Amino acid sequence: MARKVGIYTRISRDDEGESLGVARQREDCERLADLRNWQAVKVYEDNDVSAFKRNVRREEFELMLTDLRAGLIDGIVAYDLDRLARKPQDLERLIEIYDDRPRLEFATVTNDVNLGTADGRTMARVMVAFANKSSHDTSRRLKRKHLELAQQGKASGGPAPYGWQKGDPEKVDQEAARHIKEAQKELLAGVRIGTIRTRWQEQGLGNPREGTKRMAHHRVTHILTNPRLVGYRTYHGEILYGEDGSPVMGDWETINTVEEWEAVCAVVAERQKSQPGRSLARTYLLSGIARCGLCKSKIRGQTNHKWQPGSKGARYKYQCSKVNGGCGKVARVGEPVDELIAQLALEEQRDRAASADVSPERRWPREQELNDLNTDIAQLIEAEKNKSISVSTLLQVLPEKERQRDELKLDRARFYKEQKQAEAKDDAVDLSLEEFFDLPIERQREIVLHSLSAVFIHPSGRGKRVFDPDLIEPVWRE
Ligand SMILES: [Zn+2]
Repeated sequence: MARKVGIYTRISRDDEGESLGVARQREDCERLADLRNWQAVKVYEDNDVSAFKRNVRREEFELMLTDLRAGLIDGIVAYDLDRLARKPQDLERLIEIYDDRPRLEFATVTNDVNLGTADGRTMARVMVAFANKSSHDTSRRLKRKHLELAQQGKASGGPAPYGWQKGDPEKVDQEAARHIKEAQKELLAGVRIGTIRTRWQEQGLGNPREGTKRMAHHRVTHILTNPRLVGYRTYHGEILYGEDGSPVMGDWETINTVEEWEAVCAVVAERQKSQPGRSLARTYLLSGIARCGLCKSKIRGQTNHKWQPGSKGARYKYQCSKVNGGCGKVARVGEPVDELIAQLALEEQRDRAASADVSPERRWPREQELNDLNTDIAQLIEAEKNKSISVSTLLQVLPEKERQRDELKLDRARFYKEQKQAEAKDDAVDLSLEEFFDLPIERQREIVLHSLSAVFIHPSGRGKRVFDPDLIEPVWRE
């Protein structure tokens, strides 16, 4: 069920110059509510030009506070803080409600503050206290211009994003596009963003800031999931939808198909859900896959701190550890175990691929269903526009249709995600052992786990120095 929000608009003195009348404020707010999948159920419109004067009572603002408190609406969308509340008392009353009802929604078109967060509330207090208008006005004018340009599908200036040519942001930079697609493929195959980031930093990819090679984690995520990759226009990082509900397309060259891009986005969203803040870094191929042949507990890799390049002995070993509840009696030098297991897994996958049918790329079977639904929705909205149905009739049927549409879109993303993931995994078939060990460690582990569920390391006799593959027992998946 979509969250119900109220839209607040108000004329202020400086709006005339920008012709930012209530109608345009409302239009912008409604668009923003749409982007967030909120349902704008009511518009509160105050006409006082001077909201800052002490004695002016803003009737609609008061009504909105009452509705918000009563739970008739679940949040507010306004053009900016300046129009919503300029008197500290008004702001405090609003904040009080947000404090009491923590799940309330909040958004402004200019994205200047967010009363939905504690930081945002502090920020709002500061902004209202200083009423630093002149700087806000400048940035608001610029943002408004960006939005207009965005809606027309034009580039709004600024540097070309990674993937497009620096001198000509409408043309794809083939080299960068190749790196993006390669990283997306890795991501689909199970590689962490952090690993991709490290590699990009080493290779100077992703347009790092001048004078540094460091890149933020979220920047890499953004590059790989940027809606621009499929030609979608964004505004404040959100996809912009046109009158007919379809995304506004830019006029630049694209890098991904919608299917590819949705698959990547689905993987990122899923991971953020399943491992918030958790690092998946594992240093050794068989950590947690290997098990002790005696006590059956999981074995991790252990670095030999005395080891140096060129020195004799093991760089790392797999050690059953008492600390982790094991018997502590079994250990094996790491590298030969890894090599043996990698070789076995690759061979098994080659055999399996040779005997399997080649499955052709399939299209998502419910595309027509989604098209029909989109047509339905567009017709309903059109019908309300030319008054053949009422708003309330529209709102009786629309939410369910929208829910079905969103569900279908999710289903499509999942479908292509699984397909792309399967494709990415099949690539292991052609790998040499050397290429395998060049892959990021998560990818190596994925490939091993594709064939094996565990590896038992059996104890070797006393004083036995030579690596004996017979004491390594792979457990194959069914
Ligand atoms: Zn053990």
